[in-house]
Amino acid sequence: MTVQLVDQLNDPKLFRQQAYINGQWLDADNNDTFAVTDPATGKIIANVANLGAAQTVAAIEVADQAMRQWRLQSAKTRADILECWHQLILHNSEDLAIIMSAEQGKTLAESRGEIGYSASFIKWFAEEGKRVYGDVIPLAQSDRRGIAIKQPIGVVAAITPWNFPSAMITRKVGPALSVGCAVVLKPAAETPLSALALAELAERAGLPAGLFNIVTSEDAVAVGAELTSHPLVKKLTFTGSTPVGKLLMAQCASTVKRTSMELGGNAPIIVFDDADLDLVLPGVINAKFRNSGQTCISANRIIVQEGIYQEFIARLSMAVAEFNFGAYTDKGSSHGPLITATAAKNVDEKVKRAVAEGATVVCGGQLSEGPGYFYPATILVDLNSDMAIFQEEIFGPVAAVYSFKTEQQAVDMANDTPFGLAAYFYTENMRRSWKVSEALEYGMVGVNETAISAEVVPFGGFKESGQGREGSKYGVDDYLEIKYICMGNIG
Ligand code: ADP
Repeated sequence: MTVQLVDQLNDPKLFRQQAYINGQWLDADNNDTFAVTDPATGKIIANVANLGAAQTVAAIEVADQAMRQWRLQSAKTRADILECWHQLILHNSEDLAIIMSAEQGKTLAESRGEIGYSASFIKWFAEEGKRVYGDVIPLAQSDRRGIAIKQPIGVVAAITPWNFPSAMITRKVGPALSVGCAVVLKPAAETPLSALALAELAERAGLPAGLFNIVTSEDAVAVGAELTSHPLVKKLTFTGSTPVGKLLMAQCASTVKRTSMELGGNAPIIVFDDADLDLVLPGVINAKFRNSGQTCISANRIIVQEGIYQEFIARLSMAVAEFNFGAYTDKGSSHGPLITATAAKNVDEKVKRAVAEGATVVCGGQLSEGPGYFYPATILVDLNSDMAIFQEEIFGPVAAVYSFKTEQQAVDMANDTPFGLAAYFYTENMRRSWKVSEALEYGMVGVNETAISAEVVPFGGFKESGQGREGSKYGVDDYLEIKYICMGNIG
C-alpha cells in the first residue's frame, strides 16, 4: 500500500491544500478543488482549492493594504524576517523535498538541491534589501540639490511554472518582500503544494498577513486576467513559456505594468575538438538530463565538432545506459518522470517527427508504458538545422546531437534561434573562450561548465527568452521605482 504524502512528512502541517490570503487558509468561495497528481504514478496526492477571479481581486486588495505598513519598516526589520524564513526552509528541507518530489516527480536528491537553491534567494535578497542605494546628483544651479531614491514598485503579481516549484517562487518573492512590496502568487496548478508549504513557513517566520498571498487555481486564464489588469498591481513577474509570456505582456500593456519575463530557451552546447571529454560528459549530462530535461536552460542542441563527434556519441550512449528512471520513493532512481502524460506525449511526437525528417535514434525513442509519465533517455543523430527539432524546446530527456566543422559555423548555428537564455561550450583554448562567449547572443554563457545558476549571479535571457534579471545585485531592480527629488532654495 502506498503511504499518503502527509504521512511521509515530519511536520504534517506543511501539507496544505487551501489557498493562502491575508494570513488565512481558505477554500474556494464555491468549494471547488483541483487534483494534484504524482507524475511517477498518476495517482492523486492532493485536492487543492480552485480559486477564481473574485478571490484573486480580494488577494490583490489585501496585498495593497498590507504593503502600506511593510514599506515603512526598516530594511533591517524586513531582512530579519526573511532571514528567519530562510532558516525555517533549511530546517524543514527534507519535508519540502518530499512534497516537491511527490508533485513534480524529480528525484529526492534533485529536490533537496532545489530547496537549498530556493532558500539561498531568500537569504541573498534579505541582504540586498539593505543595499538599495540612491544618488546625489550635482545640478547646474548652486541653490539646488538633485537626489535619486528607490522605492518599492507596489503590489507584485507572480506567476510561476512547475519545473522548479520552489526556487522560481523565492527568486521573485525574496526581492519583492525585501524592498517593501507585497506579492500575489499564482503557482502552477501541477505544483501548488511546494508554494503553500513556503507560505506556512513564511507565516512561522513572522511575515505579517497579506504580504505573501497564494491564489491556487486551475483556471490560469481567469486568475491571470485579474493579475494583469487590476490597477493596484504594479508589476508582473512571470516564468513560463514564451507564448504565454507574450500574451501576459500584452495584457499588462493597458495599465502599463512593469513586467519581468523569464521565458523559453533553446540552449546550445558546443563541444569543440580541443575540449576535454572527461569534463564534457558530466557537463552535458547535467545540462541535458537534470530534471529529466525539463528546464529552460536545458541543453536543447548539442553541437559537436567533427573530430570528436563519434567518440562523444559513444561515450554519451554508455553514460545514459546507466540511468534509472523511477519514482522518488525508489532509492535507486537517478531520474524522474515528465510532469504530465501530455508532456510525455509531446516529447514523443517531437522525436517521431525528427525521425520522419531523417534523424537516427541511437537509444530510447519510445514512450514508456505506464504507470507514470516516463520517457527514456534518448539520443538522436543525423540531425541538421532545417529540422523542426532544431527550433523547438524539447523539454524532455532527449539529446539532439548535431555536428559542425568551423568555429564560425558553430556560433552561427548556436545563434540561429529567436531564443537567447543560456548557452554553453567546451574548449581548452583561451582565445576561443573569450571570442565565442562574446559572440553568443545569450543572457548566460557557461564555458567548460553547465551548472551555472546561483543566487549571486544574474539569471535571464536575450531576445524572446525574456527581459529582466533574477538573482544577483540586479535582481532587486525590477521591484523598485526610481524617484528624482529636486530640492530648491538651498543657496
Ligand atoms: P509550461 O509549459 O511550463 O506549463 P506555461 O507558460 O503554460 O508553461 O505555464 C507557466 C505558468 O503560467 C503556470 O503557472 C500556468 O498556470 C500559467 N499560465 C498559463 N497560461 C496562462 C494564462 N493565459 N494566463 C495566466 N497564466 C497562465
